[in-house]
Amino acid sequence: MCGIIGYIGKPKNIQEGLEALKRLEYRGYDSAGMAAYDPGKKEIFAMKAVGKVENLEKKLKGVDMRSSPFLFYTRWATHGGVTEQNCHPHADCKSNIWVAHNGIIENYQQLKAKLLEKGHTFVSETDTEVIPHLIEEAFAGNLQDAVQKVIPVLRGAFALVIIAKDDPQHLIAVRNSAPLMIGVGEGGYIAASDPSAVVGMTKEVVYLDDGEMAVLEKDSY
Ligand code: GLU
Repeated sequence: MCGIIGYIGKPKNIQEGLEALKRLEYRGYDSAGMAAYDPGKKEIFAMKAVGKVENLEKKLKGVDMRSSPFLFYTRWATHGGVTEQNCHPHADCKSNIWVAHNGIIENYQQLKAKLLEKGHTFVSETDTEVIPHLIEEAFAGNLQDAVQKVIPVLRGAFALVIIAKDDPQHLIAVRNSAPLMIGVGEGGYIAASDPSAVVGMTKEVVYLDDGEMAVLEKDSY
């Protein structure tokens, strides 16, 4: 189990993402991480901390950044120890694609072996890290197209929320045997593992069916 928050819309202070993550902490508390697109600098800012969400909060103290899209994550490890490197979101070789994952990718070892042969560099011991590298292979500017090519090769249970520095107009949410919902808010959308994360931030909640993928933009989904 783990907790995922993904936001896209009118740029929000990332501290709001942190507040939402605190409401998901019961889902996993061995480490916490975030990745946020800075629309001014056109860069992704990422931070991770081992332990409770409050350790991530300490590292983000004083960071005053407005962002869209962004991801926040709290982990409950299944593959790989409890370290900063193993915490999500995970990125590809170019730090373009960022993925937060709940669940297990059962065939990650075969996928990782092929990616290593192609020259990809891995920084974690997780099953999850194959996903951003597979998307990197398929990415030609449109995140949705790349994710759609990759999902069929993944085996196991997963909820994924994905953003890309080189396609910041989209946030992709995928549900396959792990919970994920979309909160429709004022000025933006939030993909989250559970509605408790979006209390007070949204007026409507849309539950993804199993096997569904949602493409979120700043003013539509
Ligand atoms: N399998 C992933 C990991 O160990 C995700 C675990 C989770 O759902 O918290 O990093």
